[in-house]
Amino acid sequence: MASVAIQTIRKAYGNLEVIHGVSTDIDDGEFVVLVGPSGCGKSTLLRMIAGLEEISGGTISIGDRVVNDVPPKQRNIAMVFQNYALYPHMTVAQNMGFSLKLGGVEKTEIKRKVEEAAAILTLENLLDRYPAQLSGGQRQRVAMGRAIVRNPEVFLFDEPLSNLDAKLRVHMRAEIKELHQRLKTTTVYVTHDQVEAMTMADRIVVMRDGVIEQVGTPLELYDRPRNSFVAGFIGSPA
Ligand code: ADP
Ligand code: MG
Repeated sequence: MASVAIQTIRKAYGNLEVIHGVSTDIDDGEFVVLVGPSGCGKSTLLRMIAGLEEISGGTISIGDRVVNDVPPKQRNIAMVFQNYALYPHMTVAQNMGFSLKLGGVEKTEIKRKVEEAAAILTLENLLDRYPAQLSGGQRQRVAMGRAIVRNPEVFLFDEPLSNLDAKLRVHMRAEIKELHQRLKTTTVYVTHDQVEAMTMADRIVVMRDGVIEQVGTPLELYDRPRNSFVAGFIGSPA
């Protein structure tokens, strides 16, 4: 596990700056939720942490290492997206083990890691199924399984539940939190859903228009919002 330090990070697409020099620290083992309206820059910031997007200014550190120039695969992070595409022609076990296989990990070791992750996610009985034979929640668990097998220091989630129905979403929130309590992997979780932020976060980072408005525990933000934007955003349903 590792802390993540974001220092005066900027991002511009051509002449248009969309992240305006934001700074925040995520502690080792912490579950931080990055929340804010659509278009405020959440995914862009997460993708910069992952190394999938070039940084226009500032530094990002994971642990004690500045990672600005470190390729995604060497950052020891794993990302779970909203539109997690599982490989349709591969079984659950093959989907989960694929990145390890690409990384040259030995077959028996892949099997061990996949079985370990499957046990954590209660996928043991589904390892031979294909994605088309799974429910939405099961597919989401496989997507998480793919991340877990790599034993990352940091988990990045980008609105992983937004394609699920309301009931399943509530269930999966609890599952992701349980997973975090078990593994204690440093997590940055992006959502535009206030309820998700309030119920899941150790600390919440509230963004608007490419800046951070406030950082605090759910209770701090609820009790002492810094401005009417934070108050309105935290206080009203999605
Ligand atoms: P969020 O995830 O909070 O909805 P994004 O990080 O996706 O927001 O986007 C932040 C801003 O950057 C938006 O104004 C979006 O239109 C812009 N943006 C995102 N990706 C690109 C891109 N590849 N090229 C140009 N603008 C982009
Ligand atoms: Mg987004």
